[in-house]
Amino acid sequence: MNHMSTAAIANVSQSDHHPLHFRGKNYDFVEYTTAKNWIHGQFHDAIGGTTMPVSNPRHEKTMGHVSVSGPADIETAVASAKNAFLQWRTVPVKERSQVLYKLKALMERDLEELSWLVSHENGKVYAEAKADVLKGIECVEMGCSLANMVTGQQLDVSRGINCETTFEPLGVCAGIVPFNFPVRVPLWMLPQVLIAGNAFILKPSEQVPFGAMKLALLLKEAGLPDGVFNVVNGTRAVVEAIVDHPDIKAVGFVGSTKVAKLLYERGAKTGKRMLCLGGAKNHIVIAPDADLELTGSTVSASAYGCAGQRCMAASVVLGVGKIDHIIERTVAEAKKIRLGEDMGPIINKEAYERIVAYIDNAEKMGAKVLLDGRNAKVPGAGGYWIGPTILDNMKPEWPAACEEIFGPVLSIVRVNTIDQAIAIENKNPYGNAASIFTQSGGVARYAIERFEAGMCGVNIGVPVPREPFSFGGWNHSKFGHGDMTGMDGFRFWSRERKVTSKWAAQSDQTWMS
Ligand code: NAD
Repeated sequence: MNHMSTAAIANVSQSDHHPLHFRGKNYDFVEYTTAKNWIHGQFHDAIGGTTMPVSNPRHEKTMGHVSVSGPADIETAVASAKNAFLQWRTVPVKERSQVLYKLKALMERDLEELSWLVSHENGKVYAEAKADVLKGIECVEMGCSLANMVTGQQLDVSRGINCETTFEPLGVCAGIVPFNFPVRVPLWMLPQVLIAGNAFILKPSEQVPFGAMKLALLLKEAGLPDGVFNVVNGTRAVVEAIVDHPDIKAVGFVGSTKVAKLLYERGAKTGKRMLCLGGAKNHIVIAPDADLELTGSTVSASAYGCAGQRCMAASVVLGVGKIDHIIERTVAEAKKIRLGEDMGPIINKEAYERIVAYIDNAEKMGAKVLLDGRNAKVPGAGGYWIGPTILDNMKPEWPAACEEIFGPVLSIVRVNTIDQAIAIENKNPYGNAASIFTQSGGVARYAIERFEAGMCGVNIGVPVPREPFSFGGWNHSKFGHGDMTGMDGFRFWSRERKVTSKWAAQSDQTWMS
């Protein structure tokens, strides 16, 4: 591989001459293309030739298609990746990282185009789509840094005897990702995978396959050798083919708990490394001393950003004591959200019906609907819209208060003490995120030490540990050991070689002494 100079990176020019340039620059409907498989640096139809439509959720119109692949496509991708791996593993790590420096520059060049593409395929408003791409770029930056961090260790453990550990690649690895962050979630894996020296097969969500297609083109432009990064599109059949394939050594999955658990168990039977991130039910404990303004606006932003379709979204408020003034402020903040401008639609009809059923059911069980997002409409847009919804006086065991809704619905459960709040949080089987809002350091620490959640926040609505920290929940929000991003991610996608050396008996004099 040619070493790329910094001058070459700085010279990346603005361009809209890419093949498959996406022309949308506002929310008007744009027809796009078919997301084909990307194998050995070229697009291919699925071997069976099957495709399925991809909908623009804002307009509920088909914006393109996606290949539906099967086991034969995985065979082809694995063969290409295995071959490419033999070369890529020999490329020095500092040269591998040059591809990521270039990718960062190319993503910045195409930031606007990528963001509009994500907005169209996923439905997120532009600012949220741009955040998806920017956070993806931050993950690429982490990959660039890794080249200077993955030095391994060595020590003379006794006289004349040295132990050394080095990080080695695994071979062909794969990632299976959800619909809600089409660019960012693949980049939770890719930088670590590539820096470790592996080849990769990505299976994007069939609902949002275009972001991954653009990443493939940008990686090629960045100089990644053909076959090191491949995309195979499809649904369950292709996922199962990945998880069962004996030559795929590690699989990262991000999606719902049901599928995460199934795949974790299935993959483990084949002896693969599996790290499967699942769904969530995130709790926010509000203490009576919480700052009014900060809490009201932060809780609203957490619950309704990306229309609640985030695994780190606030879903349940556990209100301790007299917090009516904070709830009123949260309602007021939520009312300010302009549907279509600040908040996008629900991904599809099935998800829409699921979310509305949770609200209907909670109302029937006796919840007080403080804010009702049902029957929301956005003039001129088709699609499935639900506005911010707040359900008060919820019981923790009611479905909307304990199951993942994955929509813009916030349940409020009233409690008298912090211990009652912590007990409810602890009882929930998920364990992605939990936050406490208070002005007392002691109360914050008390709660944080007791939450059954992998990612905790103090006065933070979406406690995502940003790079270089690793991302991952606990309990039913993650199956497998370690976390997904940061240094933990690198450890997942690599294996350590331990070398013990002795070059001469300690008592010996050598010709040099
Ligand atoms: P999903 O589980 O339906 O799909 C995820 C991936 O699995 C997709 O690529 C899909 O094609 C594939 N898939 C779906 N059903 C399958 C099956 N039966 N067998 C094999 N593969 C299958 O998830 P989604 O609806 O795309 O995304 C939303 C879910 O993802 C939510 O539960 C959310 O909490 C979760 N999520 C979790 C995290 C996290 O970090 N923990 C991050 C983002 C999203």
